[in-house]
Amino acid sequence: MSQVSDERAEVVFEDFKAPYDKSHAVAEANRCLYCEDAPCVKACPTAINIPEFIRKIATDNVRGSAKTIFDSNILGMSCARVCPVEVLCVGDCVYNNMNQPPIQIGKLQRYSTDRAYEAGWEYYQAGEDTGKSVGLIGAGPASLAAAHELRRLGHACTIYEKRAVKGGLNTTGVAPYKMKADRSVAEVEWVLSIGGIDIQHGVELGADMSFTDLEAKHDAVFLGMGLGEDRFLKADGEDMDGVHGAVAFIEEFKLGAVSLDSVSSAIVVGGGNTAVDAVRELVGLGVSNVTLVYRGQEAGMSGYIHEWSAAKIEGVRSCFQTQPVGYVGNGSVTGLKCISLDESKQPIDGTEHTLDAQLVLLAIGQGKLGHLLGELDGVELTNGCVVVDDHGATGRRGVYAGGDCANGGKEVVNGAAEGKRAATAMHKYMMGE
Ligand SMILES: Cc1cc2nc3c(=O)[nH]c(=O)nc-3n(C[C@H](O)[C@H](O)[C@H](O)COP(=O)(O)OP(=O)(O)OC[C@H]3O[C@@H](n4cnc5c(N)ncnc54)[C@H](O)[C@@H]3O)c2cc1C
Ligand code: SF4
Repeated sequence: MSQVSDERAEVVFEDFKAPYDKSHAVAEANRCLYCEDAPCVKACPTAINIPEFIRKIATDNVRGSAKTIFDSNILGMSCARVCPVEVLCVGDCVYNNMNQPPIQIGKLQRYSTDRAYEAGWEYYQAGEDTGKSVGLIGAGPASLAAAHELRRLGHACTIYEKRAVKGGLNTTGVAPYKMKADRSVAEVEWVLSIGGIDIQHGVELGADMSFTDLEAKHDAVFLGMGLGEDRFLKADGEDMDGVHGAVAFIEEFKLGAVSLDSVSSAIVVGGGNTAVDAVRELVGLGVSNVTLVYRGQEAGMSGYIHEWSAAKIEGVRSCFQTQPVGYVGNGSVTGLKCISLDESKQPIDGTEHTLDAQLVLLAIGQGKLGHLLGELDGVELTNGCVVVDDHGATGRRGVYAGGDCANGGKEVVNGAAEGKRAATAMHKYMMGE
């Protein structure tokens, strides 16, 4: 059963990578060289045995292929769609060094995992009950991967989630041309089908429950609360209608309807992946003039180059070396006041100008949530992120963390890898191994 409305603005988007049918999948699988010590596997944070799952597609063992994927990454269905494969497995495929197209690993992974979902193949059962319980914060990729692994090992799991929807940013943040919210929710339901993972919605750590309450209820704790709210410029006029944090705006149109009829020009401020997603999303939602405003140079953008190249083809304009300094408007925003910057990002006198915009999205980073824990013996924070060792353990006994709240903001696949890694370590801790 889907948790999301059918009236979502995101439904207008088509998949930007069309799925393979059987003949295409088998043909692509047969191109794989099944490399020893395969570089594509080393590039995958969850270390999926890529040549093995591809070989199983070539021999029409799709059920086994999907199992190879899920054994390493239980979120293999969403990762097939949302992973930046161009800079991970596909980017490291040996074919790149042979001037030939790399193997389309993401599309092959989607082929196998989609068939597993369609067929309802079941692979995993909960382990024998250990009598131990784990409390997990947030129902995003990191906690879900941790909880599934913990259930396989026989531990009871309760996830505390402040939102009404499950899936974290996989549901509320990922660009709809990669994956829509209902697909992410379907994945969560599939993960939960192992049984024994209780999700309590509407429970916010720091508001409805303190860390000490949480710790007292469980034998171990996993922190998977991701990142915080969008950052703002703190410039005059920021409270006007039409000025939004980009991640909050993306959540709004992914989960519901938005009206952009009065918006002919929109600006997205920032140069990272959220900014690049947001400009492409505004084009897809029908805004005629979309401009990315970034204070650095184009080459200094942290957003993936392949995504930014696609945005330019879709008609997105850009103003580089440009710093927003304020807003124009009367109740509703009508423009963004900017100044040009030199190559050292210093303002250039006399270059103040205003760019028209009825919508301004700020994609200049998200806050960190380490402060929710308060002062806790043994839990260290760096720049608001929870510090963990190579097993996901904090310095406090029984407290583990993973995903964006610990790594500072990476990808879904990192959350999946770090959740599973912490589950293995929590198991050893709880069983006294
Ligand atoms: C706009 C955007 C687009 C992205 N696109 C991609 C992409 O295409 N591909 C990709 O791989 N990655 C993408 N990412 C990154 C990816 O979504 C994250 O790395 C991943 O979701 C992190 O998983 P997580 O479980 O650590 O955190 P989250 O997914 O953020 O989940 C955390 C959960 O914790 C809940 N929570 C927060 N605070 C509390 C609290 N106090 N109490 C209870 N619950 C709480 C939240 O509601 C949320 O459900 C994107 C990120 C953004 C912002
Ligand atoms: S590097 Fe490329 S060719 Fe080699 S195993 Fe991986 S996908 Fe196949």
